[in-house]
Amino acid sequence: MSVKTTNEIDIVKVAQSKIASVDFDNLAFGATFTDHMFVCDFREGKWHKPQIKPYEPFLLDPSAKVFHYGQAIFEGMKAYKDEAGDVWLFRPDQNLDRLNKSAVRMAMPEIPEDIFMSGLHQLIDLEREWVKFGLGNTLYIRPFMIAIGSGVVAAPSTQFRFMIILSPAKAYYSGEVKVLIAEHYSRAANGGIGAAKAAGNYSAQFYPTKLANEKGFQQVIWTDDATHTKLEEAGTMNVFFRINDTLLTAPTSERILDGVTRKSLIALAKREGIKVEERSVLVSELIEGMKDGSLKEIFGAGTAAVVNPIVGFSYQDTYYELPKMADSFALQLKDKLTKIQYKLAEDTFGWTV
Ligand code: PMP
Repeated sequence: MSVKTTNEIDIVKVAQSKIASVDFDNLAFGATFTDHMFVCDFREGKWHKPQIKPYEPFLLDPSAKVFHYGQAIFEGMKAYKDEAGDVWLFRPDQNLDRLNKSAVRMAMPEIPEDIFMSGLHQLIDLEREWVKFGLGNTLYIRPFMIAIGSGVVAAPSTQFRFMIILSPAKAYYSGEVKVLIAEHYSRAANGGIGAAKAAGNYSAQFYPTKLANEKGFQQVIWTDDATHTKLEEAGTMNVFFRINDTLLTAPTSERILDGVTRKSLIALAKREGIKVEERSVLVSELIEGMKDGSLKEIFGAGTAAVVNPIVGFSYQDTYYELPKMADSFALQLKDKLTKIQYKLAEDTFGWTV
């Protein structure tokens, strides 16, 4: 191992990379991690010296608050390699901004921009061999923060650990996605933590999603908790609907995660001249749209899959199969967005870094 300090980050490198043992053609999503990780601790009211060090497990006290009170937040983003071998990030400022909004909501300290950005850039620079060229190949980036202070007292921790880990990924293909529209369970409520990328939001989804899986549906479309009539998110993605030639998606709110893919697709669609409406979409509109043929598409949007077309949905025990679209908005927009991410098309928005 060699130790050096660059721009205030202590860097300890592995003696030998494990990259040669990784089968890049057969990667399960989120299962393989690169050689190094970024770590920065918050104690005594301040962030301490950040480190990049070999990826490895670490010890925590069994009473650490993350285990008992779920004080934990995370982000998900990707790095892409272009033909020239340069590595690009997509709108990382948006992820930092959202991480810090999540931190505030979960009574955690915000991450200073220089720690986040220099950690991200230096870690990825060190691991650039792990980002493979070719459409669909990415390096999935998982920044996260956990409460490491000890004590089984239901009060916020005073000690936190912020980390970034990296996982090489192939194009995400989920197969045909059929969804169940939630009639009872909710992922978020007004005044709750739905707009934060908080760990508990995801564990709370596991059980209703498992019930949906048992019925043959891959995901749940979450509806508003009060009336279950408004369509809000699809699994862990934002959700879009195409009614005739208008693209519709719920406005961001306290119950909805402000997705980077969502806002990018809205901007792209508008640039393409597609009419976009950010408004609550009702379950009844989908049922009507199936009856009169105006409902053309439903798709999820998120960093992992970019766009995830949905083939059909179930509501009140009736299954509705969507038409097959030759020229779907989902695939058109996915193509436009991925080309920007891989630098195959001009980035007129200035999104790539
Ligand atoms: N909603 C939820 C609940 C999510 O977890 C995600 C994934 N981060 C998204 C939407 C999509 O967000 P993004 O486009 O930033 O990945």
